[in-house]
Amino acid sequence: MVSARVIGHADIVRELAALAASEEPPHALLFAGPDGTGRTALAIEYALRLNCERLHPPTTAGASLFAGDSSLLPPPSSREPCGECRPCRLILEGAHPDIITLGPGDTLCRPRDGESHPKHPDSRDIRICQVRGLIDLVARYPFEARHRMIIIDPADRFGREAAHTVLKTLEEPPGHTVFCLVSAAPEALLETIISRCRRIDVRPVPRARIEAGLVERGFGPELAARAAEASRGRPGRAMEFAQHPEMMGDRGRLLERCARVAAGPLRERFTYAADLATRWRNDRHAILAEIDAWEAFWEERLRQGVSGAEDRGRLAGCVEALRAITTVRADLQANVMARPAFELMLLCFPRVTLVPSPEEESAAYA
Ligand SMILES: [Zn+2]
Ligand SMILES: [Zn+2]
Repeated sequence: MVSARVIGHADIVRELAALAASEEPPHALLFAGPDGTGRTALAIEYALRLNCERLHPPTTAGASLFAGDSSLLPPPSSREPCGECRPCRLILEGAHPDIITLGPGDTLCRPRDGESHPKHPDSRDIRICQVRGLIDLVARYPFEARHRMIIIDPADRFGREAAHTVLKTLEEPPGHTVFCLVSAAPEALLETIISRCRRIDVRPVPRARIEAGLVERGFGPELAARAAEASRGRPGRAMEFAQHPEMMGDRGRLLERCARVAAGPLRERFTYAADLATRWRNDRHAILAEIDAWEAFWEERLRQGVSGAEDRGRLAGCVEALRAITTVRADLQANVMARPAFELMLLCFPRVTLVPSPEEESAAYA
């Protein structure tokens, strides 16, 4: 049984199907894995399996007649959500009033009584006022869903006070609400929050599987192959690439530029950071593709280091660089000032030589 909605992750889909069909489905899940691997798609898959009316016929008098027949059906864990009933359609359209995504910004913001409270659409964190709104919401019954779902993305962005308040809600989960925490950096979550959640590790998907998934969705084979290759195991990114091929840019050209900047003098990095910041204002897609190229660049060096004569300093430099990339993506998403964010990222990158040799690497600039 493989979901037509999620690319890859057949084992996770099977697990979610079994959980959703169980007597007491878990009320807090943590989808941990890199951005673009399909974490949110899996949460939506869980929402469908919890709410589809064909899988869970309403228990009215009329439906109980039908129950005689439904006992002949295979158990819900081995059936697919229909995709046609009202809950399925609303969920698939992203329009279900009980499926709510909470992230940094204004969603669910609820000021304290009598407090004047400016809006904060560009906030970096999920704030305590939003958690108040969340608790308020959870106290009420869903509008119409069997199980309301709150997707918290990214879940590692709670402020301290907010995290502790969320924890209380997770400790006494209301029966009608399911929390799906999504995070690329689960180590940044409170241990006590992690321990309340059923953790699902979402790993990169094999390239061939992504390619096949794109072809199944009607993309041409050549485009599917290129998008799958450029996505490096992340079906979500692959879909974006297939829909906007210009995002892939000229990867070879980008990687060459990465190598040049990484080997060049410090001042060149500042010039490059300024250039990124200027272009960021007009063409975010292109810059995100460029950041992807940087990630590919450091991952490749990390792989070379692991398979060859590695030196710890060099590997640490690559890891540091990859971490800086994760940070800059989060910063850009939170609308911080772009130029200092790019500068910081570039300063965290170790300097490399174009003909790599372990001894020739100097420490990070920072
Ligand atoms: Zn359905
Ligand atoms: Zn607020």
